[in-house]
Amino acid sequence: MTNKKSDYTDEELKRWIEDGAFSEMLIAKADRLRREYYGDNVYLRGLIEFTNHCKNNCYYCGIRRSNTNVQRYRMTIEEIQACCQEGDKLGYRTFVLQGGEDVFYSDGEICRIINRIKEMYPDCAVTLSIGECSRESYLAYFRAGADRYLLREETVNERHYQKLHPKNMSGKNRQKCLWNLKEIGFQVGAGFMVDSPFQTTEDLIQDLRFLQELQPDMIGIGPYLRHSNTPFALYKNGSIEKTLRLISILRILFPYALIPATTALGTIHPMGRELGLKAGANVLMPNLSPTKVRNKYELYDNKICTGDEAVKCRACIERRVRSAGYQIAVGRGDVKRKK
Ligand code: SAM
Repeated sequence: MTNKKSDYTDEELKRWIEDGAFSEMLIAKADRLRREYYGDNVYLRGLIEFTNHCKNNCYYCGIRRSNTNVQRYRMTIEEIQACCQEGDKLGYRTFVLQGGEDVFYSDGEICRIINRIKEMYPDCAVTLSIGECSRESYLAYFRAGADRYLLREETVNERHYQKLHPKNMSGKNRQKCLWNLKEIGFQVGAGFMVDSPFQTTEDLIQDLRFLQELQPDMIGIGPYLRHSNTPFALYKNGSIEKTLRLISILRILFPYALIPATTALGTIHPMGRELGLKAGANVLMPNLSPTKVRNKYELYDNKICTGDEAVKCRACIERRVRSAGYQIAVGRGDVKRKK
């Protein structure tokens, strides 16, 4: 089903990650595999960034607790519902609820939101991306009808994890969350930033090996991008070329996976998302959040699409997908694992 660890050695992966001379070969291999599994389909997920409050203080993230320059917001259930209505009109069959770790929303409230969306759109998938929670909370969300969960492991190397996060956070707990989510029955998404400060190629290989164990359904990666009001303000942005090579590597190691061409990729290069699709990505996540809050969910500087209405985003995405040589697929776009 997937290429096992033994298929590619660490040395091979290292060369692929580091050396631009392999880019063309990787893209060709990745495109062949994505077509074998998913044809030329690209799946859309309507992204609702429903709160930018966060109790965490990750050194890289623009909505970290200590950034007092952020105008904080949170959306009501009615506002979230209105986003879904808009998304439904635009043909989206997955709604992704993403936010900081905001203690304001109790488990009961999150479940009420899931219930409401599922009642209104039973044929739609609900994806959560709200960080690290207890197993009990995840179970409650799953029972309320949530289908998928996105939680990037960020980095499995504990040394690297500690460089990116304050002492009260642990990589082990994040990984435990991913295993809990999987065991409960969620379709699980993991991933990492490329070129985050202090990251080595060995760290990236360790992440790939972790993903080979976890076998996630979705894998999201994007370049690290600086935010001027974080402790990492002076670290440079990640490399688009390396990110694209890693997207191809992910497609080769996980041919079945749903892999987004992320907003961060679109931010670092005007054609970043098209290049991401060509490198092996097959998911795009257009923004459904109301324009009045868009620019407040600023994880990094110069984030794209902060001013556009959802309908405009939809048209822009359609154009980009076609120009890259693919087509937008209708339906929920669940993972396809070959027997
Ligand atoms: N709170 C949830 C969580 O912890 O998974 C979801 C929101 S969190 C902001 C979503 C992702 O944004 C993180 O997993 C991280 O990889 C990415 N991110 C945060 N800051 C970033 C930056 N400066 N550059 C690129 N990606 C960033």
